[in-house]
Amino acid sequence: MRVLVVEDEKKTASFIRKALQAESFAVDVSHDGAEALELARRTPFDAIVLDIMLPGRDGLSVLRQLREHRNDTPILLLSARGQVNEKVEGLNAGADDYLAKPFALAELIARVRSIGRRNIEPKSTILRVADLMLDTTTRQARRGGTTFELTTREYRLLEFLMRSTGRICGRMAILEKVWDYDFDPGTNLVDVYVKRLREKIDDGFEPKLLHTARGVGYVLKES
Ligand code: CA
Repeated sequence: MRVLVVEDEKKTASFIRKALQAESFAVDVSHDGAEALELARRTPFDAIVLDIMLPGRDGLSVLRQLREHRNDTPILLLSARGQVNEKVEGLNAGADDYLAKPFALAELIARVRSIGRRNIEPKSTILRVADLMLDTTTRQARRGGTTFELTTREYRLLEFLMRSTGRICGRMAILEKVWDYDFDPGTNLVDVYVKRLREKIDDGFEPKLLHTARGVGYVLKES
């Protein structure tokens, strides 16, 4: 497992690094938030130990930036004792765990191992509607013995429709889930993608699964 430790106090950082290395983790250390952000973007770490108190860009800001950029590396936040607000804020911003200083090194190691393991063994989930299957790990769709490669948007669209089976998905809801838009761009983007998806999953197959709810949106269902 490769771990990034972000802590400006050099003594604490070195102490954490040595403890993790003794447990056979590969460890990178950064003493400031902006640099940590760069490292995390370039390198696929299995976990990040992130101190909240950092000069310049603090730990919570680093955490938010990573999550905004869809970086899901597990993060263990470190903070001064008793900062309950920081704990809640950190977990809300997408941290995986939290540890108050001072902490026992054994506990830090156990928590890093635990959040890292969650990342290493992704649970494969297969979504099914009739004979259409979507593997959320490989992001491949399959129907009647044919495997389809999907682009990122096509995958997100199909995943959303499959998780909403039988319910009408409005164009605005689709724009939010698939494109992260919170406004209507006034284009036929959704319709274009639905058409492409339909060509993959419905053309040449019966029954048709992707239906139009006229004037409202789309629904994936068996009949
Ligand atoms: Ca610090």
